Amino acid sequence: MRIGVFGGTFDPIHNGHLVVAEECRERLNIDRVLFVPAGLPPHKQARTLTSPHHRMAMVRLAIASNPRFEASSIELGRPGPSYSVDTLRQLRQNQRDGTDVFFIMGADSLKELPSWHDPAGLIASCRLVVVSRPGSPAVDSSHLDNLYPGAKGRVKMLEVPGLDIASSDLRARVAMGRTIRYQSPNEVIAYIESNGLYRAS
Ligand code: ATP
Ligand code: MG
Repeated sequence: MRIGVFGGTFDPIHNGHLVVAEECRERLNIDRVLFVPAGLPPHKQARTLTSPHHRMAMVRLAIASNPRFEASSIELGRPGPSYSVDTLRQLRQNQRDGTDVFFIMGADSLKELPSWHDPAGLIASCRLVVVSRPGSPAVDSSHLDNLYPGAKGRVKMLEVPGLDIASSDLRARVAMGRTIRYQSPNEVIAYIESNGLYRAS
C-alpha cells in the first residue's frame, strides 16, 4: 500500500492542489491520497484561518468525484499547534506495516522546512515529495542534504503541470468581488458564495 499525505490550510482548496495530488498519485503509483487540512499551523497564526469545518467541507466537495482521494480530520481534533511530524506518526499507526507514506508539499513549503518542528524527524518518517510550483524556484536536493544528512535519498522532486493559483489570491479576489471560476471546483465556489466566505468585512 502506498499512501500520499497532502497537508495544507486549504483556505480554500483550489485546482492547483488537485492537480498536484492527482499527478503524484499517478506518477508514484499511490493508492490513496489523504488531504489533511491543518488545524492551527504554527507558521500561519498571523492570519485568522477560516474555521476548520468550512475548510474541511470545501476539501470534501473538491475531492468527492475522485475515489482515490480522501479527507482526513486528524489535525482538526488535536488541540494546540499541529506539527506534520506528529500527524505522520499518528497516520502511520493506523496503517499496516510495509505501507509507504509519501508526504507531498510544494517547493515554496520546502523552503520553510528548516523553521518547522523537527524537520529531520519528518524526513526520517516518510518519503518527501516536493512538487514544482509556479513562482517558486526549484530546490536543490544537495542543499537539502547538507541541512539534513541522508535527505537526498528520501526526497523526490516532481515536476507537475504548473497552475499559478494560490488560496491567498483567491481570498483577495472574492473580497474584491472578482471571479475565481476555473481556479477552484464549481462546488467549492458555490460553497464559498452560499456561506459568505472571504467577503470583505
Ligand atoms: P496560501 O496562499 O493561503 O498559502 P496556498 O495556495 O499556498 O495558500 P496551502 O494550503 O498553503 O495553499 O498549500 C498546501 C500545499 O500545497 C503546500 O505544500 C503548497 O506548497 C502546495 N501548493 C499550493 N498551491 C500550489 C500550486 N498552485 N502548485 C503547486 N503546489 C501548490
Ligand atoms: Mg501556502
